[in-house]
Amino acid sequence: MEQHKHCKICNKPVPLDRDFCSEKCREEYQEFMDKRRKRQYIFYILLVVLIVVAFLTFTM
Ligand SMILES: [Zn+2]
Repeated sequence: MEQHKHCKICNKPVPLDRDFCSEKCREEYQEFMDKRRKRQYIFYILLVVLIVVAFLTFTM
């Protein structure tokens, strides 16, 4: 079987040393990851705030 990977955005077959079929897909993926990272960051902040609020509520 021929060794190849698939573009992480459009799923086209790409050479093993590449993750994307084009610059456009690479940029799209970058954008997607940035958004996901920001969402994760917000989620963790909310989680910490919730824990602090719960902690303060239960100890007062
Ligand atoms: Zn692609």
